[in-house]
Amino acid sequence: AQERYASIRDKPAKTLCGAHIKLKMNAGLMADLPSLESSGAEGVGLFRTELQFLIRNHMPKRAELSELYARVMDAAKDQRVVFRTLDIGSDKVLPYMKATDEPNPAMGWRAIRVGLDKPGVMRMQLQALIRAARGRPLTIMFPFVAQRDEFTAARAEMDKALERERILGHPIPEVIEVGAMLETPSLAFAPDSFYSEVDFLSVGGNDLKQFFFAADRENERVRRRYDTLNVSFLNFLEGIVYRCATLDTPLSFCGEDAGRPVEAACLAAIGFRTLSMRPASIGPVKSVLRRIDLGELRDVIHAERSVGAQSVRPAVMEYLRGKL
Ligand code: PEP
Ligand code: MG
Repeated sequence: AQERYASIRDKPAKTLCGAHIKLKMNAGLMADLPSLESSGAEGVGLFRTELQFLIRNHMPKRAELSELYARVMDAAKDQRVVFRTLDIGSDKVLPYMKATDEPNPAMGWRAIRVGLDKPGVMRMQLQALIRAARGRPLTIMFPFVAQRDEFTAARAEMDKALERERILGHPIPEVIEVGAMLETPSLAFAPDSFYSEVDFLSVGGNDLKQFFFAADRENERVRRRYDTLNVSFLNFLEGIVYRCATLDTPLSFCGEDAGRPVEAACLAAIGFRTLSMRPASIGPVKSVLRRIDLGELRDVIHAERSVGAQSVRPAVMEYLRGKL
């Protein structure tokens, strides 16, 4: 399948109407790094750092992590890597951490909630990232932020880490971007000041959709009931795009839907300009984007909305016929 898209690997994901959609890759393991070359990705839009913690049976040392992160940045050359701090707890239990027994782990003590309540590991991780950057630009993203004060507190941790490193004589990145994942509906309604405070937002569609429809992403039976192209969900996403555009907040989408050509086309049509996906999806997504006019597709979506369709999928599939 990769060969099929080899001819467009180095071409931009430019639509017929001239919009350039940035396609980045999701990663988490060293084994993903060769894909930076082979997929034609424009950087790493989501580096899931918890994978390095999950594949071993002891807490990784700071120096070890720093070396790993440096290798990731080296592989990305001058392209950005968005390092997401640990998204663990509840279901993703580290064998070397005390498990908590929670009835609803996905809505439980996870990600930034753990990072703020027990900041030791997050501090170590931030320090490792700053050292790995060795003065190069650094992009950090906090997972599962549900309200502004969580981001403010996490960012303060980052500032403290930078100050500590500076005092210790380590080079500090000249460019630092600190953003949040938008994975809970609450953030879509956060005050304007939150949108101004973050350097960027990335929609984690896997979690966002699960909480929007109240349908467990791990439960096939209920997950399949709700289409990502459901009009309510698209309206919701369009609202987020609008707020980010109005408040000048850079926005991307990094859930699995970004890597599905039909969904990716719709995300671009409602205004997303950066999509991050598994490397193998970049070819197929780019191929469809290069064949469509976003204005036309947006009209299809909006027409379906005005006639009261539940999902825009049938009409979108009709529009995409012969283009997939
Ligand atoms: C998401 O929730 O969409 C996401 C990208 O994060 P993860 O899949 O790791 O929860
Ligand atoms: Mg998530």
